[in-house]
Amino acid sequence: MSKNKSEQIVQNSKPTTRNSKLESLDQFKSWAKENGFIYASSEIYGGFSAVYDYGHYGILLKNNIQKLWEKSMTQMRDDVYLLDSGIFMHPKTWQASGHAAGFADVLVEDKETHIRYRADHLVEEWFEKKGEKVDMDKKTPEELAEIIKENDIKSPEGNELTEPRSFNLMLKTNMGTTDNTLTDENVVYARAETCQGIYLEYKNYMDTIRLKLPFGIAQVGKAFRNEIVARQFVFRTREFEQMELQYFHKPENKDELFEMWKEERMKWHIEELGIDPEKLRFKKHEKLVFYASQAFDIEYDFNTLGGFKELEGIHDRGDYDLTQHAEFSGQKLDYFDQENNTRIVPHIMETSVGLNRILMMVLEDAWTEEEVKPAEGDKPAETRVVLKIKKELAPIKVAILPLSKKEPLQKLATELQAEIRNDFMTVYDETASIGKRYRRQDEIGTPYCITIDFDSLEDKAVTIRERDSMEQVRIKIDEVKAWLDSKF
Ligand code: ATP
Repeated sequence: MSKNKSEQIVQNSKPTTRNSKLESLDQFKSWAKENGFIYASSEIYGGFSAVYDYGHYGILLKNNIQKLWEKSMTQMRDDVYLLDSGIFMHPKTWQASGHAAGFADVLVEDKETHIRYRADHLVEEWFEKKGEKVDMDKKTPEELAEIIKENDIKSPEGNELTEPRSFNLMLKTNMGTTDNTLTDENVVYARAETCQGIYLEYKNYMDTIRLKLPFGIAQVGKAFRNEIVARQFVFRTREFEQMELQYFHKPENKDELFEMWKEERMKWHIEELGIDPEKLRFKKHEKLVFYASQAFDIEYDFNTLGGFKELEGIHDRGDYDLTQHAEFSGQKLDYFDQENNTRIVPHIMETSVGLNRILMMVLEDAWTEEEVKPAEGDKPAETRVVLKIKKELAPIKVAILPLSKKEPLQKLATELQAEIRNDFMTVYDETASIGKRYRRQDEIGTPYCITIDFDSLEDKAVTIRERDSMEQVRIKIDEVKAWLDSKF
């Protein structure tokens, strides 16, 4: 901690060893619920599969992650513009994109229990148990049927499986104001990815903002997929948020651009979110969709999901998207390249990341249970759970904790809160013992706790405790705001 004019260090407890991390999804779910981050949806009706509600602290954290992403895309660059497009789009959008016909996972069903599984995952796990690593991504139902038959693969319960079949992941609904609402003519789809809205607005951005290649359009918003298996907490849900950038460019320098985006995005996870770099890696896609020329995922090593899992996709999509939408809409979506005096269809590079997966990673990466050695005498060590989250991401920045509910301390505390709350997200807490209140704030990742005690009335100073080191400093009340400013 930096020293300032009135700052003096006060004796305090110290964290000793770093004990453990979250170990299972059940532990993760109950911790997230108890601390007001995430609740299973519709609990009073017995729950609703694969949908989650975000509580107060969950939303504050999610908003902070989103802000950092938008800042890195726009405030820190000159060539990316924001968009918020509708969840519903013209149904032809999904014909042009190929989703209406082909956005499917291959599914098998246990003939006894009727539980459904993603066939690719089931086969991969079956081989993994035998110590073999195989990649079943993008295999057709016929290919998977053959592998299942040849190897006599059963369900995890040991039962026979049905023939694999494709299952479209798009969620359908009807839109319209007339009586025939529920007819096939007015079927619409809840968007399965946010990027399609970007392709539909590309022409408007060109015409109204008069952009030159290369430039990007970035969007954060909900996407919906009828996932077959969604038992992985907020990692895979049927309603989720994506943060997608579509970068429109000329094909000439595509390899350098691809490397630039790979580097930028990995840097964001490490530097902006503060994630342990040892737990992040790139994974190259060996099998590509026909229009893509390169694809990498950024993966995080989740303890609670048993290993590395995809967080973000970085894809070189070629000119497929604009060519398809030009064909299906009958509109010209090409670009006049003045330098070469020719018309081209811009190519697109995409970075696509799930906001909910990021939030899950941030929580898991920061969650720490550790031993604390009390300052006084030979009291036994205690354990605390502390969310060692980056300060910029913390849902609450400062907790104001008067040592007594009595009027003079309450007044001093509320005055201090009033002075700083315009700049910092604060919480005021006068319940329970100070130890319990510290633990509560540690657990939601609050970087600074300010206690106001009876001495504060005399010396006009307060104690500020830092979350990770647990170090405490005494600061004059009229210097608190400047002290906090220097920390953020
Ligand atoms: P997966 O292989 O895990 O199903 P995907 O390759 O289909 O993911 P994309 O279509 O590339 O995913 O979507 C981009 C990002 O959106 C993913 O990297 C992920 O972070 C997020 N995402 C995709 N599906 C879900 C989901 N069902 N729940 C939460 N996030 C999701």
